[in-house]
Amino acid sequence: MENELLLKYTASTDFAKDAPGIEVPYVSQDVQEVAALVRVLDDNSKKKKGGVSIKKARYDVAGSPDGIQVDSWRFQDWDYKKRDLPTYARGLFTTRTKHGVPEIVTRGYDKFFNVDEVYETKWANIETHTKGPYELTLKENGCIIFVSGLEDDTLLVCSKHSTGERGDVEKSHASAGELRLERQLQRIGKTKQDLARELRKRNATAVAELCDDSFEEHILAYTPEKAGLYLHGININIPEFMTYPSALVQKFADDWGFIKTGLIVIDDINEVKALLEAVAESGAHDGRDVEGFVIRCKRTQNPATNVYQDWFFKYKFEEPYLMYRQWRECTKALIAGKPPRYKKHAKITEEYLLYARKRLAADRNLAKMYNQNHGIIALRNDFLAFKNLQGADAANFEELFGSGASTEIKRDIILVPIATIGCGKTTIGVALTHLFGWGHIQNDNITGPKRPPRFTKAVLDELEELPAAYADRNNAQKHERKQLITDVKVQHASAKLVALHFVHKNMDKIRRVTKERVLERGDNHQTIQAASDMNKVVGIMEGFIQRFEPCDTSREPDAGFDAVIDLDPAAGSRENLETVVKELHRLYPNFLTTVPPAEELDEAIKAALEGYKPVLRHNIPDRTPRNKNQQPVQQQPKKKKPLEYISVDVPAKDVLDALEKTFATNSPEQTRFFKLLQGTRRIQPKFHVTLLHRTSSKEHPELWDRYKRCHEVEGAAAVNGKLGKMEVLLERVVFDDRVMAIVVRLVPSPEDANINSNTAEPPKPKWECANQVAHITVGTRDDSIKPKESNDLLARWLEKGSGAATGINEFGVEGKPLLDGTVQAVLSR
Ligand code: GDP
Ligand code: MG
Repeated sequence: MENELLLKYTASTDFAKDAPGIEVPYVSQDVQEVAALVRVLDDNSKKKKGGVSIKKARYDVAGSPDGIQVDSWRFQDWDYKKRDLPTYARGLFTTRTKHGVPEIVTRGYDKFFNVDEVYETKWANIETHTKGPYELTLKENGCIIFVSGLEDDTLLVCSKHSTGERGDVEKSHASAGELRLERQLQRIGKTKQDLARELRKRNATAVAELCDDSFEEHILAYTPEKAGLYLHGININIPEFMTYPSALVQKFADDWGFIKTGLIVIDDINEVKALLEAVAESGAHDGRDVEGFVIRCKRTQNPATNVYQDWFFKYKFEEPYLMYRQWRECTKALIAGKPPRYKKHAKITEEYLLYARKRLAADRNLAKMYNQNHGIIALRNDFLAFKNLQGADAANFEELFGSGASTEIKRDIILVPIATIGCGKTTIGVALTHLFGWGHIQNDNITGPKRPPRFTKAVLDELEELPAAYADRNNAQKHERKQLITDVKVQHASAKLVALHFVHKNMDKIRRVTKERVLERGDNHQTIQAASDMNKVVGIMEGFIQRFEPCDTSREPDAGFDAVIDLDPAAGSRENLETVVKELHRLYPNFLTTVPPAEELDEAIKAALEGYKPVLRHNIPDRTPRNKNQQPVQQQPKKKKPLEYISVDVPAKDVLDALEKTFATNSPEQTRFFKLLQGTRRIQPKFHVTLLHRTSSKEHPELWDRYKRCHEVEGAAAVNGKLGKMEVLLERVVFDDRVMAIVVRLVPSPEDANINSNTAEPPKPKWECANQVAHITVGTRDDSIKPKESNDLLARWLEKGSGAATGINEFGVEGKPLLDGTVQAVLSR
């Protein structure tokens, strides 16, 4: 297919010979029109805000006998997509003649877009709104140079936005272009003045591509025979876009010593499309790599009017050029000692980099040259030759050779949360371990000096055995990320670092949600023992929030991440877990081959929320400001927290199972409140039966005393406040539309029942419940309803029973399970 097309169209490449019959476009400048344009541009360039941003820059033209100055007008790239701009010229210079008349001296093409990039370049629109002949010009790969003539016969050579007269970055482009031009004119015995006069006579700007590896390498190779100025267009210097047909451009190139730009002329748009797609597949045309084509044709706003204007679009080939660019950037990163970053073409790029590393090590000069954009293509070609691969095949390497297997990332993933306290880092880490058995290193479990390197080491150690590790630390500040990324890349170059970025946007909500969670977490954390020291905890949390630096991959250190997954701290951990899993699967399908079903994710989160108990507990230094002497503020001797209540904790999983089973057989009507609690995450994460609360200690002074003593004496020796055991029988679920509770029966544990066995008295249970009805609160409808309202509910239930009249529902708990409970003392916050 491609060959046929190519054969057919190569014949027309030398179209220029047929050009004499074609009319040369010409329009002179309309002073009013140009004056109006310059005025609008000028007004816009002074506006600070709103509308389009236009940058104006004034230049003295070198070698102009009359000391002519020109103004460059520069739009932001994205503004070209707006409607009703005063002009769409990309590259526009104006001046005033010696009579003070404004004129356009240089006019670039109207900004043109890739196929599918904008509405107008959708194929369907191209098909209906344009007409041929379609001139396909090879997209040469260099820098654009504009050439035009001034009033005093000076030849103006400029790049897109600069005349080369200032010490700016584009200066070298324009000057290099001018040097080239001088050489080519000399060769044909003409002068710059000749060319200036010719262009001025035509009221035109010549547009050429400076391609010269000896000056600056781009992506395509231009060896000395091929280097030079490729003329690709001649534009009329007027506000609207009017440009020469390519045949005339080629003729002009011949006459003035330019290199001609490859040209294919096709009348039928369908053939254009077919050819472009065929060439895109091979990535080469006419035996040489091409970056893409610019297609020149005529377009109408409305096909009915038959008013057509010059119009361009482009068709850029993606591969292997994108891969080549990636190689170039990675090589430069290697040279700079930074971690190379790449996502696509992972396998072949890895191999390329191995090769490049060796070559760079073998030849010190190579790195220096490479940084000056020399030897890029040679290194790439050497590698391809060494691998015996064509560029296009290399870009398809994964598909052609890998079939997945060894070619892609399958292991050595490090997950790095970027978060503050209470975002759910640990919950997600535990859930992932539960699901996939990945490693999970908690910074909170690492004590002593030099924590950061030891943390990194612990994480890397996990990778020896496991495919992934979770680096559980806030990593809220850039310096922490920098440490981790650098240490990892140095010690384990092939590890992939994936950031789990808890995006901190809605701060009030994040503060509220995380605080709520952490205070609820109680003492169940190594360094943050909420119930014991609420104010301190809130202070620490706020400190992290204040210091939080968002992940920004456009710069170091976050540029070192291989991927970033955005999460919402206020969303539940279940949702975030799903995001993490799905994204990891998308990013590294051979690492995470499938996304587990919803139930497994549910189960993992459940396990994480219920089952997780930290193993270590230590005190963190106070982070409140230091005093004048730079001494840490003396920590207050720990005040004993008063006893808040005594509870029997039961395994959450068992309670949830029982509830599920109980409601499974009920009608939707009857399950609605339960579903509502589930859906709004209003079901308690942990369940307990309160035996006696401080608020009712007055009514039960003896029991309170007994519990207090027990807590003081036995609690001191107890592990995590565990005072004893007690079995809990789940009897009935009782609820209205505000609160749900399970009525329970407490069964003394055999050990405790024997406590008084050496006396004559009947055994007295050690643990009693002071509440009217012993119960577990399952959940309340919203925050405004406190769990203790279940006491009122159950009082009404006892008195009036359930049914429509009372608005109370009750069900026997399915199977009436007997759960192992743990008696605990809970202290005031
Ligand atoms: P970290 O400080 O970022 O590690 O946060 P954790 O994972 O320890 O979570 C903080 C507290 O919030 C813990 O008590 C968790 O059990 C709880 N938690 C985590 N995710 C959720 C969630 O989705 N909903 C609720 N209600 N609590 C959660
Ligand atoms: Mg944590």
